[in-house]
Amino acid sequence: MKLSHRITHLTGGGSDGWDVFYRARRMISEGVAVTELTIGEHDIGTHPSILDAMNASAVGGHTGYAMVPGTALLRDTVAARVQTRTGVPTTRDNVLITPGGQAALFAAHSAACDYGDTALYLDPYYATYPGTIRGVGAIAKAVRTRAEDAFQPRAADIDAAAHGAVSLLINTPNNPTGVIYSRETLESIAEVCKRRDLWLISDEVYDTQVWEGGHVSPRALPDMAERTLVVGSMSKSHAMTGSRCGWIVAPAEVIGHLINLATHTTYGVPGFIQDAASFALSSGRELEDEISEPFRRRRALASGILGRQNAVTMIPSQGAMYLMLDIRATGLTGEAFANALLDSHHIAVMPGESFGRAAAGHVRVAMTIEAFAAALSTLCQFASVLSEQRAFE
Ligand code: PMP
Repeated sequence: MKLSHRITHLTGGGSDGWDVFYRARRMISEGVAVTELTIGEHDIGTHPSILDAMNASAVGGHTGYAMVPGTALLRDTVAARVQTRTGVPTTRDNVLITPGGQAALFAAHSAACDYGDTALYLDPYYATYPGTIRGVGAIAKAVRTRAEDAFQPRAADIDAAAHGAVSLLINTPNNPTGVIYSRETLESIAEVCKRRDLWLISDEVYDTQVWEGGHVSPRALPDMAERTLVVGSMSKSHAMTGSRCGWIVAPAEVIGHLINLATHTTYGVPGFIQDAASFALSSGRELEDEISEPFRRRRALASGILGRQNAVTMIPSQGAMYLMLDIRATGLTGEAFANALLDSHHIAVMPGESFGRAAAGHVRVAMTIEAFAAALSTLCQFASVLSEQRAFE
């Protein structure tokens, strides 16, 4: 039977740079002790107090269909959080609760793009971005950011790609680079969006993991609330990846249409999960800080380790749970380096090439386990040996 082009071409085909990841998983299943620093999963479970709230809600009977747009309580809680943190007036009519940030990314592009429209995204990028865009029938067009700019996007590059495009997807704090876009960067991006009449889809799922400077939501910039669709999630801020709870914050008219989309796709998010999320968000910054603290600590350890060597250069890590390391001094590609590291030291990191072309010659290290610091030291020694060998070649 013939399958749709949309579904069969979702991932774009070809090598996707995830070979190292799958090889590491295979080695683990065969009993090899691999230090896994690939994907962004916390090493802690969901906080017991959140689980208690979830249990109380489920036992209390909140197990039937929940309201499709989200419970009034969670929509209000998200709206209040956004308004307090950004100063932008926000009510429940601006909020749709979704099964995770991923569903919100899909919803946002469904709202912005028609079939055949061009949607921009920035390279390096979170793995699902181009497929999400293709999934709504749009054409995914990457705009490269540059290692020499510490991957801060240049407005001129976006502008040059914007002719005929309808949307731009950005992510700050950024996965995979760990970079936070500066206010100046965001202001210049906002100007391009206004000049080119683009929707700005702003993925802010790492907004609680800020190590340096501050997180600016571009929805708060002048005249941007009407064209910005913010993607949020409980996954990273509250270690609730498996609960599948996120949201989209947008103009009320957009939310009205997206409620229709949700009725015909996800049919909402379980009520007991939403109650747990309302509880978690109501616990405020203190709980968020407790959950982000291990990453802050590990990132400080990483700065110390990286400061004592010169084989590897770190892109300034300002937020999120990742380090992006430049390993070009070894003469290897990110993929070759990651494969060699896995073979010789059983340490698994992601090649920069897994996230597009702009991060070639880099590797991304997830700071997700305590063994991370020792593994990082080993990685640096390995890179140093390779660089020295290269110098004698
Ligand atoms: N955006 C980014 C940048 C991510 O890294 C992730 C998850 N790794 C998501 C969105 C989606 O997260 P979730 O669906 O779990 O909310």
